Order: sequence, then C-alpha cells, then structure tokens
Amino acid sequence: MHKRFSIITIFPEMVNAYMGCSILKRAIERQLISVAVHNLRDYSVDKHHTVDDYSYGGGPGMVMKPDTFFRVIEAQWPKKDNIRVIMLSPRGRVFSQSVARELADESKELVFLCGRYEAIDERVSEHLADDEISIGDYVLTGGELPALVIIDAVSRLLPDVLGDSQSAEAESFSHGLLDYPHYTRPEQFREMSVPKVLLSGNHEAIRKWRIKQSLKATIQKRPDLLESYSLSVEEKLLLEQIKEEAS
Ligand code: SAM
Repeated sequence: MHKRFSIITIFPEMVNAYMGCSILKRAIERQLISVAVHNLRDYSVDKHHTVDDYSYGGGPGMVMKPDTFFRVIEAQWPKKDNIRVIMLSPRGRVFSQSVARELADESKELVFLCGRYEAIDERVSEHLADDEISIGDYVLTGGELPALVIIDAVSRLLPDVLGDSQSAEAESFSHGLLDYPHYTRPEQFREMSVPKVLLSGNHEAIRKWRIKQSLKATIQKRPDLLESYSLSVEEKLLLEQIKEEAS
C-alpha cells in the first residue's frame, strides 16, 4: 500500500525539513508514503509571484488569492478525480484520532492547502476544497504545521510505517482510552522506582495493570473520553476497583 500526500504552500522548505527526519523519512524511503510539495508561488502569473491581495470591504491583513490555488490543482490534477482537497483552517472540523483513521482509510491522494496571512479567499473553501480541517481551537500563522500534524498522525496508522505493527494499536485514543504509563531502565532512579508488577514477568498481571492504568489516566486527565466509551466487562470490574481504592 502506498499513500500519497501533497502539500501546497508558499514555504516548501518548512515542510521538507520535517519530512526529512525520523519515521516519516523512513516511510518515504521505503515507499510506503510519498509527500509532494508544490510551491504556490510557482502558479502565480505576475512577475512578482504575488499570492495575496487586499481584503474587499477593508480590514486588517491580506487575503490569499483564489486563482493561484485553482491553478495549481488544475495543473497538477486536471481531472481532479483521484484527490481529496483538504483546506487547513481554524474554521474546519476539528482533527482527532478518528479523523486520522478516516483519512488513513481514504484511497484518494490527500492534497493540503496551506493558508497564510489573514485568510484564504472564501471561493477556495466553497468551490475547490472537499474538506476543511482545523487542528484545534487556536490560531497559527500558517497551515504548514497543521498539514504536517495530519500527515504524521495518518502515516502512523498505515500498515508497516511503525516498526512494531502493534505500536499504533496500543496508543492513546485508538481504543477510546488514554495510553498506560511506560517505564525503562534504570529500575531505580533517585527515589523513583518502576512499578513492581512490570518486573514480575507475569504477563497476565501486567496486562491487567495496564488496562487499569489506562482507565485511571483517562479518569484523571480526560474524563470526557469515558462518556463516549463503552467499557468491557473486565474494564467495568477494574473501574469498580479504582473507585473502591479511591474511597
Ligand atoms: N483569520 C483566520 C481565522 O481567524 O480563522 C486565521 C488565519 S491564520 C493566521 C493563517 C492560516 O493558518 C489559515 O488560513 C490556516 O491555513 C492556518 N491555520 C491557522 N490556525 C489553524 C488551525 N488551528 N488549524 C488549521 N489551520 C490553521
């Protein structure tokens, strides 16, 4: 399986720097994913390679022109039939692990439009983008970090991208709960020791401990996640134990 991503940006070097490291770099080298970066300025037709202009109606900040975005899509994908165009915007639906899963299952190439300045002309959202995604309720300077966040989270879910095929399965959110705590050597660090059960070699006890810690972490840090999570019989019993221990 080979997953294709494209990023349309006025700062290709930002994106390339991140793609040249770690797991994504290896995924590209192993041809599990490809990330094409298109410089939006190359599709501007004036001699200064302008991509923005003043806002109709006045107000602060510049607005990214619609024509360059339409031009790059039409030049690169004339039929526009095998791509899903995702515009990054604080006004979009909020990204989450379930949206990452949805995008990992998408067979079409994912094409990200990165905004800058005050906004992107609304006609891009209305007539060019298939989807509009925000990575959270805060405003960043541009869409490059959001595009990288999404590509990173989606790539981790693709078969073979992570070394251990089970790594993504056990992570926070993949089953609706937060991850359990992890420890490595040294066993004793200053006054802090590794929980004894993890050194016991008792796989069943370790499995139960991890589920219980996952539940505990979720209750303490993100109780809202439990509202939409359906507990297994085992998890219900462990949750009872946690409540008894706390009382
Ligand atoms: N005026 C816009 C607003 O209030 O919604 C914010 C524009 S922001 C300074 C410039 C660009 O950064 C946006 O066009 C978008 O591509 C990107 N961006 C900023 N915050 C984002 C977020 N939370 N999620 C996704 N993209 C974001």
